[in-house]
Amino acid sequence: MIIGFLKDHKSDISPLVPANISKLLKVVSTVWLESEIGQGAFFANEDYVDGEVKSRSEIISGADIVVQINPDITDEEYSALKVSAVVIAQYAPFNDSSLVDRLSKLKVNAISMDMIPRTSLAQSMDVLSSMASIAGYQSVLVALQHMPRYMPMMITAAGSIKPSKALILGAGVAGLQAIATARRLGAMVEAFDTRAAVKEEVQSLGAKFVEVEGARDDKDAGGYAVEQTEEYKQRQAALIQEKAQGADIIVTTAQLRGRPAPKLITMDTVKKMKPGSVIVDLAASTGGNCEGAVNDEVVDINGVKIVGDSNLANRMPQDASTLYSNNILNLLKHIVRDGAIDLQSDDEILSKSIITKSE
Ligand code: NAD
Repeated sequence: MIIGFLKDHKSDISPLVPANISKLLKVVSTVWLESEIGQGAFFANEDYVDGEVKSRSEIISGADIVVQINPDITDEEYSALKVSAVVIAQYAPFNDSSLVDRLSKLKVNAISMDMIPRTSLAQSMDVLSSMASIAGYQSVLVALQHMPRYMPMMITAAGSIKPSKALILGAGVAGLQAIATARRLGAMVEAFDTRAAVKEEVQSLGAKFVEVEGARDDKDAGGYAVEQTEEYKQRQAALIQEKAQGADIIVTTAQLRGRPAPKLITMDTVKKMKPGSVIVDLAASTGGNCEGAVNDEVVDINGVKIVGDSNLANRMPQDASTLYSNNILNLLKHIVRDGAIDLQSDDEILSKSIITKSE
């Protein structure tokens, strides 16, 4: 069984790190990789000992498993795949309604890393968590770079500086990492999430949980947030507006899978914030949690900077590559049996992450 890794063209992250080749060779017989696959993550071609460098077209037409990060294989290239080949990438089918239809017509066996269930068993394959964790960490560092103040309390001969106040909206994987990072840097942190289950996690990181009464029950939503009632949203908006006005940094991470991100900070709130404060919106690519946020841009509203960036994992390509590559390795260890992937298997991880099959 040959596995081939394609270089990513949207980021510096590599789907394969050198340390994983020997581990992969216990699961498959041959590892192919595109030249300079790890260049952006500071891995040289010669580091990939025991892997064979092949061209993109050789990998697409000859590998049994083709691995990408962001899918960019063209229809013509899909048609050149081996009939039984499996393509693994972050397809995000919940954000593209025509994708499954297109891949089905092309008879592609596609596994989407972002469809792997968020269960304990699948934790080691969870690319969403890997990338969100980096994004959460980076979000605070990005805010820091734009801030005109210290984050921790400083007692100096010239006088004392008060610690900055951080408000984290959405306490999932990214939000919890942002809380931990802001706390390590000495900020006073408050956090809010509609899922009451995260309250204890927020508190255990040393942050205060902002409570809004009357959230809808989300225990049947597979761990994801559910849409809230209008009344709840109004109460939430009023409290967030109040907290935002005192914050030096706000990190927003709230997502609703397959739907536009909830608007948590209105333009009115932004205009009432202190000049010099910074909002980092990780949901910018799905419409943003903050009004006025533009993905991949920094917008200045009366001295308040709104940084829209949903790809902060790209700022740490080396560790992002290690985590993505480990997630792939762990998935393969789970789904390759006797040198093959049984696409008809009712295994929970495989059946949920296969988005299209050739038969
Ligand atoms: P996500 O990226 O889908 O959303 C980020 C956070 O925003 C979530 O905590 C969500 O509740 C919150 N949010 C949504 N709407 C909001 C609103 N209107 N106001 C405030 N907050 C709002 O979340 P994620 O980090 O991908 O995590 C999704 C779920 O998966 C969570 O329950 C998480 O604990 C779970 N998870 C499980 C595992 C595992 O068991 N293997 C691993 C990772 C995550």
